[in-house]
Amino acid sequence: MQLKEQLFQTTQARFGCAPDQCDDHQLYEALLILTRNMAQNRPAPKGERKLYYFSAEFLMGKLLSNNLLALGLHDEVRALLADLGRDLGVIESMEPEPSLGNGGLGRLAACFLDSIAALNLPGDGVGLNYHYGLFRQKFAQNRQTEEPDPWLEADSWLIPTGVSFDVPFGGFDLKAVLYDIAIPGAGSGCANRLHLFDVAQPADAPWVGIDFDKGDIAHRLTSFLYPDDSDEAGRLLRVYQQYFMVSAGAQLILAELEAKGYALNTLADHVVVQINDTHPSMVIPELIRLLTEKGMSFDEALDQVRRTCAYTNHTILAEALEKWPLAFIQKAAPQLVPVIQEMDRRMKEAHPDPRVAILDDQGRVHMAHMDIHCGFSVNGVAALHTEILKNAELKPFYDLYPEKFNNKTNGVTFRRWLEACNPELAALIDGCIGPHWRQDAKKLEKLLEFQEDEAVLDRLLAVKQHSKDQLCRVLWARQHIEIDPQSVFDIQVKRLHEYKRQQMNALYIIHKYLEIKAGRLPERPVTALFGAKAAPAYVMAKHIIHLILCLQKLIDSDPQVRPWLRVAMVENYNVTWAERLIPACDISEQISLASKEASGTGNMKFMANGAITLGTLDGANVEIAQLVGEDSIYTFGQHSDAVIRMYAGEENPAPDGRSYRPLEYYHRPAVERLVDFIVSPELLAIGDPASLSQLWRDMKNKDWFMALLDVEDYIAAKDRAIQDYGDRRAWAKKMLVNIAKSGYFSSDRTIEQYNEDIWKLK
Ligand SMILES: *Cc1c(COP(=O)(O)O)cnc(C)c1O
Repeated sequence: MQLKEQLFQTTQARFGCAPDQCDDHQLYEALLILTRNMAQNRPAPKGERKLYYFSAEFLMGKLLSNNLLALGLHDEVRALLADLGRDLGVIESMEPEPSLGNGGLGRLAACFLDSIAALNLPGDGVGLNYHYGLFRQKFAQNRQTEEPDPWLEADSWLIPTGVSFDVPFGGFDLKAVLYDIAIPGAGSGCANRLHLFDVAQPADAPWVGIDFDKGDIAHRLTSFLYPDDSDEAGRLLRVYQQYFMVSAGAQLILAELEAKGYALNTLADHVVVQINDTHPSMVIPELIRLLTEKGMSFDEALDQVRRTCAYTNHTILAEALEKWPLAFIQKAAPQLVPVIQEMDRRMKEAHPDPRVAILDDQGRVHMAHMDIHCGFSVNGVAALHTEILKNAELKPFYDLYPEKFNNKTNGVTFRRWLEACNPELAALIDGCIGPHWRQDAKKLEKLLEFQEDEAVLDRLLAVKQHSKDQLCRVLWARQHIEIDPQSVFDIQVKRLHEYKRQQMNALYIIHKYLEIKAGRLPERPVTALFGAKAAPAYVMAKHIIHLILCLQKLIDSDPQVRPWLRVAMVENYNVTWAERLIPACDISEQISLASKEASGTGNMKFMANGAITLGTLDGANVEIAQLVGEDSIYTFGQHSDAVIRMYAGEENPAPDGRSYRPLEYYHRPAVERLVDFIVSPELLAIGDPASLSQLWRDMKNKDWFMALLDVEDYIAAKDRAIQDYGDRRAWAKKMLVNIAKSGYFSSDRTIEQYNEDIWKLK
């Protein structure tokens, strides 16, 4: 049947009218139903071995446009709507963004699902169906406030499956109900699934804000992603969530294995489980428990699971490596305790070193240690990160199991992050090198032939300007912010964390502000754009948001500064915002303290859209720098080995153990005036004195992520970039080199490497 007729039939059946009588939301719903059904009806990729990608989050972004592209219907639907006098972009804007993730880790999982399906590999995601996500961010009185972020409507991407599993908790059972989101592969003709488990009777959101009864497991387990863990009830709820996800997921794996007629003792031949960070780690003891319950010996079960499970490490921040008190697991899933104790006993027997123990002497379970002992692969997510894991963070494990360690540098799907979000740039690239880069992003390298082609460089600048103009319109429409489209767009969007150093960017803004006030006008106008959510209980992160919003306010009301420098923070930064901001970016801020950002993926998206990176040699920035060469990136700051030595405090340690002393940097005249401006009369008149002075004191006296160490170098590098921006031809060439070299960061490449080295699916 023709698409046109299908649409007609869908709107008739659903709304009793023809498409031209539908409002935008009805048309969106009709297209959702059509697309969902087509994706659902596609066959799964074939293979003897199947991947289950376990992740606490999947930051999917809107799916309509993405799925239409994957199904090859995008142009047809756009034309069909145009015949009706309607705009696909407007219809797409009706879609709520699924709130199933929070940041880079969840977005990586979403890019991976896209690539796995496009490469026609049999691999499903496994996660939870959160109803209200992390939170929806609003700004009030220059502060972040949090609200539930509901996304489920009467029609959504979820496909009820009729499948459910009983999950045994201490003292009660809960039914895990399975919903699927179909993941059609672009150009593959197949579709995988994202399996999302939910409680049978999820609670509505009758509460104000995001506080709720964390003890009401039966109804609230899937309310929020990462419930506040500043109290014990919140931490316990996270354990309940994790066990619910992995128990249901493990039961699904064994049910599918049996349905295919494979014996349990062939698990490792037919299944591979990728554990995305430590949140799903309990899948290991749960699989062992289920296998032994079905009659397998502990030895055999451990052996099977060890050959089935692989672990991806995403961070070297100690506070993020999960350690759960065994008492929590005793409460939530007591049946796992003897399994964990037996694993621990065996590992201690083989390796008595307390640094590699699963259970420590305080009765805590080190989830990553369990993953490494009881899995066959441990990977980091960028070359530098994997080296740090091997040589420092996980060295005792590397000494035990060198063969398990491998690197898989992250990637992003160019279908969403170039083709879909920047069609003008995609068309320009097609015009230069043809369309084959769409299947193989490495082919973008052919663009290097156009480095001296003035017509191409001019068009590249025009495309960038077009995206900047569009962003200006969106900012005006959504937040009534008016910015200068001719200014340099300098963008830092990512979760708010001290290690990512948004506070250092704020110090640059203060520097520029003071310069302008002193009559030293900058080379050209600059707009500093931010987007960031702070975890609700992360006090210092909220102070930093407060500082940025206060600077925004201060400058907005200053007619002397406003023409030269603007600050704007987008509310509720998410994938949809990213798709608007990234194509419009001139300077991509990737300024984490070297050694702290495992990889980053925002850096890759910006690069592919012709932004120039201003960054430290951290995470995948190192690989970006190697690829583009020093003329096409601005790097600055201390290197990771120096930073690691400072934390170790090898020479002359301070009372906190480090050899870094922030006061020494603070007392440099060029730095002190910037830091002190945080508590200047101008800012105190706008902001909350308690909040600003706490931030000020912390920066002087603690500065755990060493913003003051790099700030002078940062200011110099950024001023250099802004100056260079004036030579438009030379800048356009840098842009072209970045786009040309970005193909390495396609998640298709990453997934091919996972498949060759770890999964071996085909
Ligand atoms: C890509 C992405 C991230 C990750 O950004 P980093 O700069 O790598 O931390 C976070 N949030 C959203 C919405 C993204 O699209």
